[in-house]
Amino acid sequence: MMPVGRLRSPAVAVTLMDGKALAARVRAEVARDVGVLGRPIGLATVLVGEDEASALYVRRKEEACREVGIEPIHHELSVDTREGELLDLVAELNADERVTGILVQLPLPGHMDEGRVIGAIAPIKDVDGFHPASAGHLLQGEPTFVAATPAGIMELLRAYEIPLEGARAVVVGRSNIVGKPMALLLLAENATVTVCHSRTRGLPEVARKADVVVAAVGRARMVTREMVKEGATVIDVGINRVDGKVVGDVAEDVREVAGHLTPVPGGVGPMTIASLLRNTVRAGRYQAGLLAFPGG
Ligand code: NDP
Repeated sequence: MMPVGRLRSPAVAVTLMDGKALAARVRAEVARDVGVLGRPIGLATVLVGEDEASALYVRRKEEACREVGIEPIHHELSVDTREGELLDLVAELNADERVTGILVQLPLPGHMDEGRVIGAIAPIKDVDGFHPASAGHLLQGEPTFVAATPAGIMELLRAYEIPLEGARAVVVGRSNIVGKPMALLLLAENATVTVCHSRTRGLPEVARKADVVVAAVGRARMVTREMVKEGATVIDVGINRVDGKVVGDVAEDVREVAGHLTPVPGGVGPMTIASLLRNTVRAGRYQAGLLAFPGG
């Protein structure tokens, strides 16, 4: 893929990885695939409560669905909904033929058990890839629904031809939805992967050895220039709101040393949504019997 933005310094030139442009291409492919599939595809989104950021993400996902010919089916529940009611809704969506994929927007209110709710989604409709069955298939290297953010990152790495075989990769963050699946996907590409977290000692030294750094922490600008090897690829997953502005987990001065870098916004975010759409079409293929569902 053509580099989009280049910032030159005497030592290195950073290539900004344009997730927005790549996501537009992926959406076009998905729209074509939806047409080829020739059956209606519906993505059910469930939003519990009034978290502003969650509501915004859900709206973006709905818009993206419409653009590619997927029907968005939105359910909004009040913050004081009982977990049992949510589980009933999930059961209804599992049984509803109009619903190809189900996405329960996280985080859920504190009185709900996220694991129980996600575990109630039919694995064949688990387009977020958060169900233990999907996570297990990923662990075993079987084709499955892969969580949209790490899946989108892998697509960016491929598009920019970042070498992964034998490369040292450091993933900062070990959540079930980003850090852990990210580490497994890099491992599957034969990278040598180190996973860091809040108890890691000497993070700067560990990160500085990496050819690829993925920052999925949720702390504004925590990855600094001193933590990045010259020419490394830096993937910024973070979405942090600082003084009304969205900033990533990677500090601005990392541009002076990185070889490739995803901007925030316009890097990982658009690829997450595009990958979710891809997963929804995959669910359609499974349900049409065009693709064998792992373990099914
Ligand atoms: P979580 O809060 O679930 O996980 C954060 C991880 O960061 C944890 O593993 C935590 O370690 C680790 N961590 C916290 N502090 C430090 C530290 N000082 N040093 C090293 N590691 C640390 O977050 P998510 O994985 O859900 O999301 C991470 C970020 O990515 C957030 O900003 C989120 O908004 C963003 N995001 C962006 C998406 C996109 O599409 N662009 C999609 C999903 C998320 P420990 O396990 O020890 O607590």
